[in-house]
Amino acid sequence: ANSYVGFDTITQQIEHKLLKRGFQFNVIVVGQTGLGKSTLINTIFASHLIDSKGRLEADEPVRQTTEIHPVSHVITENGVKLRLNIVDTPGYGDQINNENCWDPIIKYIKDQHSAYLRKELTAMRDRHIQDTRIHCCLFFINPTGHSLRAIDIIVMKKLSEVVNVVPVIAKSDSLTLEERDAFKQKVRAELTYHNIRLYPFDTEENDDEEIQLNERIRNMIPFAVVGSEREVIIDGKPVRGRKNRWGVVNVEDETHCEFVYLRNFLTRTHLQDLIETTAQIHYEAFRSKQLLALKE
Ligand code: GDP
Ligand code: MG
Repeated sequence: ANSYVGFDTITQQIEHKLLKRGFQFNVIVVGQTGLGKSTLINTIFASHLIDSKGRLEADEPVRQTTEIHPVSHVITENGVKLRLNIVDTPGYGDQINNENCWDPIIKYIKDQHSAYLRKELTAMRDRHIQDTRIHCCLFFINPTGHSLRAIDIIVMKKLSEVVNVVPVIAKSDSLTLEERDAFKQKVRAELTYHNIRLYPFDTEENDDEEIQLNERIRNMIPFAVVGSEREVIIDGKPVRGRKNRWGVVNVEDETHCEFVYLRNFLTRTHLQDLIETTAQIHYEAFRSKQLLALKE
């Protein structure tokens, strides 16, 4: 007798539904002005998403990033639609008095959780809630080669309580490879010392392969990146890169910097997990706190 009823097609049914809806991925970039935040975002998502002044269009007037500013894009690859929201933030910690300069960023992240919760609690809620919750915070570290600034530690700690934080060493072409690796180790030691728990988190659901992958990522963080919106010629071929006093840096060459590792991490290996972790850990923590407050 043929007992096959065909429920294994459920994976295709789910895929069809997901493809039709598309995916939403929201990233925020945080760090001092001039560390190359806008440039890196443009480098990751290839086309000119936001130019380095934070303008939407080339013919818009030049504007410094003075406020938190989300920009939306739709990217399609092989029929898969990714709606990408990138939230540029004004460089924090640029002032003489940096007290509470991180508040607007934390507030922005919490406001998205709050908006989502409000929609969830609405009786006649939409079947599909528009998701503006931030799935990943790229935190830009100044490539000093010394310690982290005290303010960076405070802000990373605050951020890691509400969002998946992924630290990167900005403009790593200003360090030699030895300096870079020493600095990476130093930053990791400081993060551990200050008890800052960063993404990725292991859960019981993870299989051995995922646990190993996460371990590799933890050993690589902070990603030492170089961004560029221009092409330079290397061996007669145009590549995304920068000229500096030591020669030419090919952004996509893994022996030059860790840009490719960061891009793979964001777009290939951890996209879904960043989205899921946001919902299951960060949003859930926010939600239960809010609901508890309502009961009191
Ligand atoms: P933001 O203020 O953090 O958004 O910084 P921008 O992306 O506007 O970049 C500030 C300046 O740094 C620009 O002149 C960029 O060309 C330059 N820059 C960006 N990324 C890099 C990098 O990886 N290495 C070097 N050397 N310069 C960079
Ligand atoms: Mg900028």
